[in-house]
This record gives sequence, C-alpha cells and structure tokens, in this order.
Amino acid sequence: MPEPEESGPAAAADRPEQTAANTDEGIAVSGMSMTFGKEPTAVQALDGVSFHVPEGGFTALIGPSGCGKSTILRLLADLLQPTAGRVAISGQAPSVLRKQRRIGFVFQEHALLPWRSVVDNIRLPLQLSGRAAGRGLASTVGDLISLVGLEGFENSRPSELSGGMRQRVSIARAITLSPEVLLLDEPFGALDEITRQTLNIELLRILSETGTTAVLVTHSLNEATLLADEVIVLSPRPGRVEARIAVPMERPRTLAMMKSPEFFRTENLIREALFGRSPGPGP
Ligand code: ADP
Ligand code: MG
Repeated sequence: MPEPEESGPAAAADRPEQTAANTDEGIAVSGMSMTFGKEPTAVQALDGVSFHVPEGGFTALIGPSGCGKSTILRLLADLLQPTAGRVAISGQAPSVLRKQRRIGFVFQEHALLPWRSVVDNIRLPLQLSGRAAGRGLASTVGDLISLVGLEGFENSRPSELSGGMRQRVSIARAITLSPEVLLLDEPFGALDEITRQTLNIELLRILSETGTTAVLVTHSLNEATLLADEVIVLSPRPGRVEARIAVPMERPRTLAMMKSPEFFRTENLIREALFGRSPGPGP
C-alpha cells in the first residue's frame, strides 16, 4: 500500500520539479516574461513563467483577473512574442506551428461568423488553409458534427443556437485541422453550471479520442480539478507560477468523481494557493 502522504495531491504539489521533463515533447515554457508598451507606461503582465505540458496532457491555468492568463495563451499561439524566455511546442517555435495550423484556439466569447451556418463555420479553417481535411480522427465535417454532438443543427445559424451549442461549434472549428495543441481561454465561463459540466466531460472525450495536448484558462476551481492533470496557479500581476498542483484522479474522468475526497483535497489545495491560508483577503 502506498503511504497516504506520498500519493496525495499535497505530496505532488511539494515536488515542483517533477515535470521538468523532455522539452522536445509537449509544450515547454521557460522563463517567459511579457511587458506591454514602453516606460513610463509599460505594463508587466508576466514575470519568469515556466511550466511543461506533456504531449497529450491537460494543464489548467488559474489566477486572479489580469494576472496574464490570456497573455500566456496568446504567447503559446504565436499571437504575441515574449519579452524574455522561450516557448517550444514539440521542440519547435510557436510560429512554426501557427503557420502549419497545428494550434487550435477556443475563445471565451464564441468567434463564429453569424451569417454562416454551423457546417460552414466548422468548414472555415479548411477553406482558409486550402486543405481537404484534418490528419486525425475527425477527418470530415460530418465526423466533427457528431464528435461535438450537433447532429440536426448543421444548417442553423449561431443566433439560433444556445450558448453551449455555440461553444460546441467553436470547439469543432478549433479541431477541424486536427491540431496537436488546443488552447482554451475560459471557453465555458459564460455557461450555466450544468451545461458547463456536460461540455467539460465531452471535451475530455474529444481530447482523448484525438490525443490533443490542451491548455485551459479557467476561473473555476471545480473545472480545473475535473479536467486537468496539473493545475498551475498564477500570482496577481505580474503573473508568476505560484503553485503547481497535480490532480491525482484517473481517466476517464466522470462527474461522480467530483464527490470524491481526492477531488475536495485537490480543490482545496488550489484554493489555498490562490487565496493563501489566511482567513480572507486583506483590506
Ligand atoms: P487575464 O487573462 O489573466 O485576465 P490578461 O492576460 O488579459 O489577463 O492581461 C494581463 C495584463 O496585461 C493586464 O493588466 C492587461 O491589462 C495587460 N494587457 C493585456 N494585453 C495588453 C495589450 N495588448 N496592451 C497592453 N496591456 C495589455
Ligand atoms: Mg483573460
């Protein structure tokens, strides 16, 4: 029998070097800093952020508003260049992956084209890239529609869909070209809790079927715990890695696991890292 102290999430959190792994695989971020603008009005968003997401792994980023979470995703996606430090994905610069359309991005507010149907929104990356279909499992738009459970809504416009359905379209569109990395910026933040949890489980199913590496920004401790292998807690701006907390739960994850002692323990560790052990924030 393993010692409880050794196998619990606390033990994992106390070993921050455990994922200092093969940086030719997955996503390797080292010493990444980001400052917007120039003095005297420069804004330092990130300060020396390092982490590693193994290939096929799922990392959640959580931290106070304005601490640089979206900035991290934009740096990973080559939508911004860091002021210092480096990012490598599968050993390559993000610019290489972006040009080859190997990175998928899901935004908080769906960025669907309102005049296009569900099918035509999902088809958009194929048309823009001139590619016939993705490399992976979801090789046709029809497959993608069923992968995200939108059969029967192929010809609907975004305005005719619920918020949850629109995010299903956004996810389908983000994985149309079978990206090896999927970046999700609070994709379910605007949804009610039941819809969010349903989509959480569906996202995990989709990722496990496609083997995609994922980084999710979320405000929800619950969502981070349910989805991630590791949760990275960021400090207030400038964002630094405050804690890295391993989630000691098996896959496939189920909603029933949210009632387990491990779930509560992990959620509490994240809460403590976010808010400290002291009784509430100061004045
Ligand atoms: P989060 O997603 O954690 O809420 P962001 O990454 O959006 O935070 O922003 C981090 C900080 O960087 C904030 O103070 C924000 O105002 C600033 N920031 C983000 N983008 C820019 C930009 N393009 N120009 C100037 N400041 C920015
Ligand atoms: Mg943000």
